[in-house]
Amino acid sequence: MIKTLIAANWKMNTNFGEAQQLTRDLLSSINDDAHVETVICPPFVYLQEISKLLEGQSIKIGAQNVYFEEKGAYTGEISSSMLSDFCEYVIIGHSERRQFFGDTNEIVNKKLRSAIEHSLTPILCVGENLEERENGDAEHVVGAQLEESLNNIEKTVNLVVAYEPVWAIGTGKAATSDIAEDIMRFIRSKLAAIYDNTFADNITLLYGGSVTADNVKDYLSQPNINGALVGGASLDAQKFQDIIDKAGEVAPL
Ligand code: PEP
Repeated sequence: MIKTLIAANWKMNTNFGEAQQLTRDLLSSINDDAHVETVICPPFVYLQEISKLLEGQSIKIGAQNVYFEEKGAYTGEISSSMLSDFCEYVIIGHSERRQFFGDTNEIVNKKLRSAIEHSLTPILCVGENLEERENGDAEHVVGAQLEESLNNIEKTVNLVVAYEPVWAIGTGKAATSDIAEDIMRFIRSKLAAIYDNTFADNITLLYGGSVTADNVKDYLSQPNINGALVGGASLDAQKFQDIIDKAGEVAPL
């Protein structure tokens, strides 16, 4: 049975005070019996301090990105070994990284390798844009993203895959749960083809794109959706808590 996972991507939001307050608010409202694993991914500069607030607590922490080199003259970059002191998770290949910062599948592959080497659990993001969906290319695009990103990566890793259709991120136009399920069934079958059925059956698959407390249960009721990656709604402690609570209502025990 795959544990339900709800992950928050704060993106480049919050100042330090807000980040601490958001974390404290979540800690005070979280229900540890809800059978939901919760992860928050604040901006890099707050990871150390937020990880202290989360010590001994059930909420886990992740980074929003990583650079694949170990160390050296890479001004402004952060390596997996640096993150591994503070984080358990790292988001890799988010569509905003692909769109604004040139992350290709090849770069994503290198980032995944470095994260895994340092025992971080990658949340690998895949998803088609609107034009690709309208051209009927969604499966083709997502399939290629998976194949190229996971190229020559061993199956014995913690891996989470997030399906985030680009047209649904931050737009309020969430994919219907049927559309999400169609692609996520495809993702699981693709993972079975790349690795094997047992591996694919045990991978946590998240849906991301305008998730709210009103729609999260629809997604989680689908057989191939095990959780959600939440952007906008994770910046409000109450809204994010509502999502976790709703997820807990349908989470496997
Ligand atoms: C995201 O950025 O990963 C995301 C899903 O954003 P939103 O929930 O705001 O659509």
